[in-house]
Amino acid sequence: MSQKRMHRVDVVVVGAGGVSGAGVLRALCTATNAKVVGLEQYGEPGMVNSHPLANAGTGHRGVEPNYPREKIAAIYRKSGYLWRTVRAKQNPLLAEKTHHMILGVGKAECAILKERYKMLLETFAALGADIANDLEFLDREGIQMLEPKVIEGRNENEEVCAILDNNGLVVDFQVLARELLNDAKQANPDLDLRFNTQVDTVSFDGEKELYRIETDEDVFLAKALIVTCGADSLAFAQRLNAVDANDHSILSIAGNFWSAPAMVNGKVYRYQAEGIPFSNPHADKVMSKVMSKQVGMSLGPTIIPVLFTERNKWGTVPGFLWLWARSPVRGIRSLFKVLFEKGILGFAVEQFFDGLPIIGKKRLLGKFRKIIPTLREQDITKRKGAGGIRPQLVNLVTGTLEMGNKIFKGFHSRFVTTPSPGASIAVAEGMEVAKEIIAELGPDYFFDEVAFESAVDGVIITASRRESHKELVC
Ligand SMILES: Cc1cc2nc3c(=O)[nH]c(=O)nc-3n(C[C@H](O)[C@H](O)[C@H](O)COP(=O)(O)OP(=O)(O)OC[C@H]3O[C@@H](n4cnc5c(N)ncnc54)[C@H](O)[C@@H]3O)c2cc1C
Repeated sequence: MSQKRMHRVDVVVVGAGGVSGAGVLRALCTATNAKVVGLEQYGEPGMVNSHPLANAGTGHRGVEPNYPREKIAAIYRKSGYLWRTVRAKQNPLLAEKTHHMILGVGKAECAILKERYKMLLETFAALGADIANDLEFLDREGIQMLEPKVIEGRNENEEVCAILDNNGLVVDFQVLARELLNDAKQANPDLDLRFNTQVDTVSFDGEKELYRIETDEDVFLAKALIVTCGADSLAFAQRLNAVDANDHSILSIAGNFWSAPAMVNGKVYRYQAEGIPFSNPHADKVMSKVMSKQVGMSLGPTIIPVLFTERNKWGTVPGFLWLWARSPVRGIRSLFKVLFEKGILGFAVEQFFDGLPIIGKKRLLGKFRKIIPTLREQDITKRKGAGGIRPQLVNLVTGTLEMGNKIFKGFHSRFVTTPSPGASIAVAEGMEVAKEIIAELGPDYFFDEVAFESAVDGVIITASRRESHKELVC
């Protein structure tokens, strides 16, 4: 058996091809002096949840029907880095501006959306955000002007209204991952970025304070480890005893998408109750190059719980089951508690029936028709091979769903799980993770804020210039 090659490095990023790993790598390579390795199991960036067929491509910035105030503020702040990156790149394949419309159907939903609109204006005003200028509350006529198919064929007595964001973004997160990795390589030509490199074994030597990361051919001894493998990040975190990791499990929620002829001009959401982490289906004019080869309009995601941590990859089923089997009593208790909370059981039953053959399609058609009343059954086709997985964390101590992104922390290590809107905040989260890890590594390392901010705005400062800049600052 051939000997594996051994490398000593500062930081290893596992899952380098997703938008989260790419975000971390860009921050490490544009702003620090760390020796960095990125490892990715597939042959190119963005092949799993960051692929345009896997997600809804929404650039989230806090204008949502179901986020609480503090989440709106956090997403708004973090998504600013995405908006700046898009502006700097000027890449038509990366993103497109479009309107986002949150549609309320019926008296009750419109009353809630009216309140929601007020709340959004107040929240953005408190943040000093000029985003309020992009928002409008629309009545039937306003909707008809922008999205005639949303009104065509609708019962005249049915009340409809919408919150409109005139300045929304649709993003191809695979292109984003590619752009971020290009920046990383440009800033630090020594970056060791390896594709087709799967990591199975990671251990920690407490005495030497080094992580040992093994691939088929190499062993990396690293002072710090960052894992950005979506749902699989939790298993790594548990193996390495990261804080709280063993008190969590994951519900793998897959999203399906449907194709139809183009009938909308932007993105039309439905109203969504607070506390339900899975969004109602929306209708999207398709903008990404990959998707537009297949469809004119995208409908979805419609959701379904699955036993994979990566969609349709059967090899990930044992790992998923192990997440629950290692703590079965707490697991079952938590599942029951989650199901009976906040109407999630009703929601789950509904999704089950939506997933059934024949009647499922008819049921979904009914939901899609809330957006486009004239949609016909023959217009919609399930998009094959589309739809990623949201790793929805379950806290086994409290028996509750944990909404949004969670980053588990270990000794000089981070494990990033990224349900929606993870891709929209990946640039900012990458920076935060990189900054924290570099601070933990001690005084031999620095995080150059100026260099990072400059990279976000499109000006890369190379490693050698950064070193001299650091000396000047000191
Ligand atoms: C249906 C759906 C709709 C969504 N819609 C939106 C949206 O509209 N807007 C938004 O912001 N977010 C959305 N999201 C969320 C978004 O897709 C994710 O947050 C984001 O893509 C996650 O990026 P990531 O890099 O963390 O994970 P991924 O893109 O999954 O990347 C993980 C990487 O790790 C690699 N990897 C895994 N295991 C290993 C290993 N052992 N060794 C080496 N490499 C490994 C994988 O190959 C992969 O490249 C949606 C998600 C779903 C499922």
